Formats: sequence, C-alpha cells, structure tokens
Amino acid sequence: MTAPRRPMIAGNWKMNGLKADGRKLASALARRMKKLKKPAFEMLVCPPFPLIGLAGETIRGSGVKLGAQDCHSNASGAHTGDVSPELLKNMGCKYVIVGHSERRTDHNEKDADVKAKAEAALRAGLGAIVCIGETLKQREAGRAMSVNRKQLQGSLPEAANAKNTVIAYEPVWAIGTGKVATPEQAQDVHAVIRKELVNILGEKEAAKMRILYGGSMKPGNAKELLALPDVDGGLIGGAALNADDFWAIAEAAG
Ligand code: PEP
Repeated sequence: MTAPRRPMIAGNWKMNGLKADGRKLASALARRMKKLKKPAFEMLVCPPFPLIGLAGETIRGSGVKLGAQDCHSNASGAHTGDVSPELLKNMGCKYVIVGHSERRTDHNEKDADVKAKAEAALRAGLGAIVCIGETLKQREAGRAMSVNRKQLQGSLPEAANAKNTVIAYEPVWAIGTGKVATPEQAQDVHAVIRKELVNILGEKEAAKMRILYGGSMKPGNAKELLALPDVDGGLIGGAALNADDFWAIAEAAG
C-alpha cells in the first residue's frame, strides 16, 4: 500500500523578475492560499536570492512557503557570490533546490557537489529538493533509467529521509522547452526512482518520500501528470511566474 504523500507545488522563479514582479506574484499566491482552510498541497516559491526577503515578508502567515534555488555547501567563509544554507534558513526558507540541471550545466555541478549542498541544507535545518534528470541524448541512447539511478545514488544526502528530502525528476529536454514528458514516460522514471529509493533507504522511507515532476508543467497538462501514482507534485519554472497558472497547477494537485 502506498503511504499518502502530500503533493508539493514548488515554483522556481529562476533569474526572473524585479522587486515589483516578485511582490505582485507572492502576494497574489498568499491571498489565495489564505482563503484555504486546509490546503491539500504544500506550496513553495523559490525567488532569486535578492528577492528572498521581500517574498518572505509578502507571504508571511499565508501558508505559502519560501525556498531558494541553490546554496553553498559551507556554513560561512570566503565564497564570493555564494549563499549559505544557514543564511537561507535565517531568512525564513524552508527548502532549497539543489542540483537543478541549469546549475549542473552552467556551473558544472557534479553529483558529489549536489550531495554536499544537500547535506549542508539538512545541516542547516532546511529541506533539500534534489534534482535529477536525463538529457535528450541520454534518453535517445536508452540510458534514461540508468542516468537517473546514478544521479540519485550520487546526489542523495546520507541522512536523507522523507521529511528532509524531496526528489525532483526533471528531464533536461523538457525544461523550458514546452516539450512535456508523456504520462507514461514520467511514471516509468518515477517508478524507477522510487525503486532505487527502496534500495537506498528501505521500503518504508521510500514509500513516504515525495518525487516531483518538473519540465514544462502547465495548467493544461498538470492534472494528468499529478494523478500518476508516483508523481507527488511539481517543480515548475515558466508557469510559476504567472499567479493564475501556478495556482491552477496547485489546484490540479488538490
Ligand atoms: C524548472 O525550472 O525546474 C522547470 C521545470 O522549468 P519549466 O517549468 O519552465 O520547464
């Protein structure tokens, strides 16, 4: 029997928006969230670093949670331009995304780096959203499953459990491209990820751990994806920048 898993709807704003945009988006979501007595989903927004304070103030008390898009693996020190998970926690973040494919590509982050960041997030008391996903080339070569298994093995923090860690399966070819995975493709990979989680963490913890789908999720395709047995929410980029679209996706989860 599958344990009930509360869906997470997480918005990755990436490097988008100025102060006024962040305030508008965060307040539109907070307003809607406040009206729900017992939301069926957990909603998270992950603004760019400089907007974290503003977004945090705007959503305070609404039930919308705050997250970040990346963190350093150290708690402090000479790391110009980086941000520690301790500071993120101090700013009100509950989660941090680690290993997003854009970080893996743009900053050459490897599984070991992602794991170190995820472990630092847990050390600071944040939840880690660990991203994995294959490229189109890897999928076409029939390597989607092995690539995801390997990334999971290499990126998962040692102390991972269903409370402190969320997995996000994001096929690289679907991120920001408008090409969404078919429900069958998504479920197949999510099932493989869950099976690998059983090997690593044991049956009980694996059954409780959330696995999000990310990659061109929109209001029009969300319901079908979110209804899949091993899909426990979404990590949303483009559609998270529009309050109506992001909210519609959240409602599809609830
Ligand atoms: C993402 O940034 O994690 C993402 C899934 O982006 P998009 O929804 O735009 O594909």
